[in-house]
Amino acid sequence: MAVRDDPAFDNHERVLFCRDEATGLNAIIAIHSTALGPAAGGCRLWNYESDDAALHDVLRLSQGMSYKNAMADLKFGGGKAVIVKTPDFDGSEALYERFGEFVEELNGEYITAEDVGMSVPIMEIVARRTSHVTGLPRTDGNAGGDPSPKTAFGVFRGIEAAVQFKLDLADMSGLTVAVQGVGNVGYQLCRNLAAAGAKIIVADIEEDRVKKVCDEFSATAAPLDEILSQDADVLAPCALGAILSEQSIPTIKASIVAGGANNQLETDEDGQRLSDAGILYAPDYVINGGGIINVACEYSGGVDDAEVDVLVAAIGPHLTRIFEEAAASGKPTNVIADAHARKIIAAAN
Ligand code: NAD
Repeated sequence: MAVRDDPAFDNHERVLFCRDEATGLNAIIAIHSTALGPAAGGCRLWNYESDDAALHDVLRLSQGMSYKNAMADLKFGGGKAVIVKTPDFDGSEALYERFGEFVEELNGEYITAEDVGMSVPIMEIVARRTSHVTGLPRTDGNAGGDPSPKTAFGVFRGIEAAVQFKLDLADMSGLTVAVQGVGNVGYQLCRNLAAAGAKIIVADIEEDRVKKVCDEFSATAAPLDEILSQDADVLAPCALGAILSEQSIPTIKASIVAGGANNQLETDEDGQRLSDAGILYAPDYVINGGGIINVACEYSGGVDDAEVDVLVAAIGPHLTRIFEEAAASGKPTNVIADAHARKIIAAAN
């Protein structure tokens, strides 16, 4: 498929196909907008069914990063990378170094970090070939490292804000949260939820991850295909995107959907469907902005961990303002958030 024909193209500034026969690298870097600054967004490693599927995902994700960075008040544009996990993928150091070279070729127009399938040690390999990489180990108490604990902390604060708004409850004790996906973000979210006295139900395709959260946080496990329809107060999607759809929304029993996954809505209309079903939806790129806030602080330097927490905690009140505006206008929360993000980006153009 031609890049411009993809429905998620949305006038991307640049799309770079990164192929390297020697290492087997098959990656795409998408830069949606640099209006606010260099395009910042993580790199995802995933076993896509086709190159078209990888292209579609990276375009959707990079547009989401433009909105996320704008809404987090960061001087960054939106970009994202995906590395296709082919059947013979070997994850060699040479492959990640080659990816770093492609990032370097962009001269700082794109700044990479971890997303699904990546890790701090992999980012250290990428950093051998480019300085435009974050999510590296912390130095001297400054912000840095795996951004997912900060993402999870922001999601937790967002869930608290949604619970206060929708259920008029000041804390999480005794509430039930169904968490889909307990990888980097989901696991850390469970830690926050358990500390706040919430009951946790989890599902993940990796059984050992489910066992770990059940053991550590007294969570209960649900079958993969039943996690969305659990009897819970909050559904927290923390796996992959497009799980809120015309088919899935009628099965959701929770009155709040608030989780860390990117691109949770299959289509924009699904925001209206959630609203019509009386479900309060926390726009994904607002609630999961904690990681990129950490990345931005790492990149600029001179910001310590406690200061990052203050910035991330502001996600709660920010969401409350979106919920209030949605309620007052009768529009879905995703429409309100998108309008704000576009306005911020347009003002910078
Ligand atoms: P991860 O790879 O560590 O975790 C994802 C987990 O979801 C894995 O354990 C995987 O097995 C599980 N999973 C995949 N498909 C599933 C399914 N159908 N049902 C149940 N579980 C499933 O990735 P992560 O870093 O935790 O990211 C999770 C989500 O949050 C992604 O959408 C990512 O883009 C988004 N996100 C992550 C960060 C971050 O800081 N890591 C920041 C913002 C957004």
